[in-house]
Amino acid sequence: MANFRISFHGASGGVTGSCFLIEYKNTRVLVDCGLFQGLKEDEIKNYEPFRFDSSTINYLILTHGHLDHCGRIPVLVKKGFRGRIICTDATYDIARVVLLDAGKLKCEDYKRQKKEAYRKGSPLPLPPPYCTIEVLDSFDYFSPTHGYGRIIKIGDFDLVLHNAGHIIGSAFVELKTNDFNIVFSGDLGNKNKPLTPDPQPPPKSDFLVVESTYGDRDHKSFEETVSEFRKVIVETIKRKGNVVIPAFAVERAQEIIYILKNLMEKKEIPYTKVFLDSPMASEVINIMKRHSVYLREEIKNEIKTGKDPFDFSALEIIEDVEESKSINNMSGVIIIAGSGMCNGGRILHHLKHNIWKEESSIVFVGFQAVGTLGREIVDGKEEVDIMGNTYKVRASICTINGFSSHMSRSELVEWIERTRASKVFIVHGEEDARNKLMELVKKEGREIILPQLFEEYTF
Ligand SMILES: [Zn+2]
Repeated sequence: MANFRISFHGASGGVTGSCFLIEYKNTRVLVDCGLFQGLKEDEIKNYEPFRFDSSTINYLILTHGHLDHCGRIPVLVKKGFRGRIICTDATYDIARVVLLDAGKLKCEDYKRQKKEAYRKGSPLPLPPPYCTIEVLDSFDYFSPTHGYGRIIKIGDFDLVLHNAGHIIGSAFVELKTNDFNIVFSGDLGNKNKPLTPDPQPPPKSDFLVVESTYGDRDHKSFEETVSEFRKVIVETIKRKGNVVIPAFAVERAQEIIYILKNLMEKKEIPYTKVFLDSPMASEVINIMKRHSVYLREEIKNEIKTGKDPFDFSALEIIEDVEESKSINNMSGVIIIAGSGMCNGGRILHHLKHNIWKEESSIVFVGFQAVGTLGREIVDGKEEVDIMGNTYKVRASICTINGFSSHMSRSELVEWIERTRASKVFIVHGEEDARNKLMELVKKEGREIILPQLFEEYTF
């Protein structure tokens, strides 16, 4: 008997809202406390009370700074959490930016919807789960740690954070006791990404809680992906169109800049202006420079010798809205802006000015969830609504899938096998993906569990 209880409070039957509770002897530890995102029926779960008493949680271990892993932390604190939040120092910095942005956007949205409801006489919207003030409160509980591999004593557990290779500072979690050990994968990174190093192999463990985002498919190789990307840019610039790239502010935008810089230096694409129109992405560039110890060896060395891997003469970082508007009349340029799924942000202005131009290209380099404008465009809608106006889609639409920050199916299977775990919980995946992954790692002597939301297990 291992004498512990584990319960699943998110990312169990979906990919968002990661939150797992493990209870052993006198210690109650949460791993991640993420926001549910996507469809309305998912987002409504952010308003439901936790099924545990927040004030009794001793520690929260945060695997990385994506909103679907850290986005409910302000709610947890609001509900009485007074423990310690442990994560790497880079994750803390990313989580700060991500949570402040989320708090601000949620409040702005709420105020706009409330005004509209008053005007139309319709029912008032639900107030957001938190605003900026609650985000600021939650920062008091963070206890960031530097680097990977150290044993940190947390109550009845020994905790070790290992490099997950997903985004800067990301970690997978190993919890050890005299009775058993358990590994929580968090999000695991794809190999050969340009900025973050490959994930570490896992230690041997008795229990494993593993993500399955891409449990059903393999990615194209990085080289193939870059060559696809290069081709679209060359063709679009040749016909004097603009290349508009909706990109996530955390790591994808920086990866794209790094790739463009290299392609331009090697003269594989013509010299052309590149505009980064995302204040949040610019902030993440600074975080990356500050925490270069978490980046690939070659980038770390560049920074150490005083070079800037994210700067080149063609790149212009847009500071304010006026500057952003000045791009509208340009042609033959590359524009990177957020949000990555086109459900808000400055990308909407650039789409408004380019989506109807035959010579321009809209290049999608990240996942597009159902219900977003990005998904509508990718799915081939002929007309789309952007900020209240309808536009014909005449630009060429291109989806480049290979820039994933998640492990592909074969790498996941290999990683799981290395743990030699006899009990494997598959989480953080659509039903299809986790069922397929289950088939691939099923074997004698191993129990595989696909937990549903709020289920709990005792061993
Ligand atoms: Zn993630």
